Amino acid sequence: MEAPARVRFAPSPTGALHIGGAHTALFNWLWARHTGGTFVLRIEDTDLQRSTKEYEETILSGLKWLGLDWDEGPDVGGPCGAYRQSERLSLYRQNAEKLLDAGSAYREGEAILYRVPGGVEITFDDVVYGRVSVMSDTLKDIVLMKSDGMPTYNYAVVVDDATMGINMVIRGEDHISNTPKQLLLYDALGFERPSFGHLPMILGTDKKKLSKRHGATSVYEYRDMGYLPDAVFNFLALLGWCPRDGREIFDREDAVRLFEIQKVTKRAAVFDMDKLNFINQEHVKALPKMKRLELTMPFWQELGYPVGNHPVEYLAEALELMEGRGQTLRKMAEYSDYFLSFEPVKARFDGTSLDEGKKPALREFYREMLQIESWRAEAMESLAREWGKSEGIGLKDLAMPLRLMLTGGKVSPGIFHVAELLGREEVRARLSHYGMI
Ligand code: GLU
Repeated sequence: MEAPARVRFAPSPTGALHIGGAHTALFNWLWARHTGGTFVLRIEDTDLQRSTKEYEETILSGLKWLGLDWDEGPDVGGPCGAYRQSERLSLYRQNAEKLLDAGSAYREGEAILYRVPGGVEITFDDVVYGRVSVMSDTLKDIVLMKSDGMPTYNYAVVVDDATMGINMVIRGEDHISNTPKQLLLYDALGFERPSFGHLPMILGTDKKKLSKRHGATSVYEYRDMGYLPDAVFNFLALLGWCPRDGREIFDREDAVRLFEIQKVTKRAAVFDMDKLNFINQEHVKALPKMKRLELTMPFWQELGYPVGNHPVEYLAEALELMEGRGQTLRKMAEYSDYFLSFEPVKARFDGTSLDEGKKPALREFYREMLQIESWRAEAMESLAREWGKSEGIGLKDLAMPLRLMLTGGKVSPGIFHVAELLGREEVRARLSHYGMI
């Protein structure tokens, strides 16, 4: 059993919650929950120019959307508050004074700098990257307090992590080079060092560092595209980690149980949209019927379809037939538009491509189909088979025009199942629009 971890996510509120930040938050959360420890949220808002309250709120709600809850933070409080750096300034001042008194820091104008001693080998064993060693001679003196009275990142992070009792620092690999400087400050201030685990870099499929060029970068963009929080969670967890048994689809509980920070790889992780789509589709398929409907509803509404005109059972059944086609909720809402309205069908398919020569036979079959006693997919299909056999027309030649007239496209779930759900009268109306009856 691992000792309970005290970990933290320390975003700067200078932008939305990005994939990289969400990934870091997720791994901290997983480790806290796996060890029965504590997940702390700390807002690093010392960059007064760029930090805003709105960004702080977006980050918090982005984390909530992903299902990552924190035990201590600016909104919930906790024993180690305040949880915003801008509210901890006296702590930074006091500790800087201590270093001045001890002679290990000096003033330069209004600023306070730590004097880096020469000839010291700074070493730490990163849980992910292994042993890292740096000679202090390669480092310049470290600014602690800037002339505007604000602490620098490298200094504030040490004071905060130490006074908040953080025993494991999990963050992006871009901070590895900061760690030796921070370790010098831990030692100088007499604080106990935490352990460190740096997470691998996230690359696009072109093997370049993930950026805007690769598409959506903020977590909210994924929500708006119709990705499920559970799927994004699952996908992010796989960037640099994988359960021992190699499974790729899992829920939160499984991830918490199986997560091991020691198993995180330092190999750069690739952000692959195809994989995200696959994972999303699996999670969409696994949703209970009514939940899937509830989550798809806003996308239909956004597309302007009259969801209110249809019984809830009908809509849920339509999505059941879609079987996760479309990979995202938005795509599924788009692809299933013909269940909500005939308008998009007419817009996609004007009927002119129907073969004139085949129309008489088709008319005859559709007329018979509409008279079938039991309006069931199986009954319609076997009628189509029998009728086709006696008339020398293949099932496909009966089904494809039907698909075009009912859905406006060439791809859909089994067309007789679509017809069954649309109902006899709606099918009659659509066929009659195309002059088939
Ligand atoms: N505010 C820093 C960042 O967003 C935190 C880095 C750290 O976790 O130490 O990069």
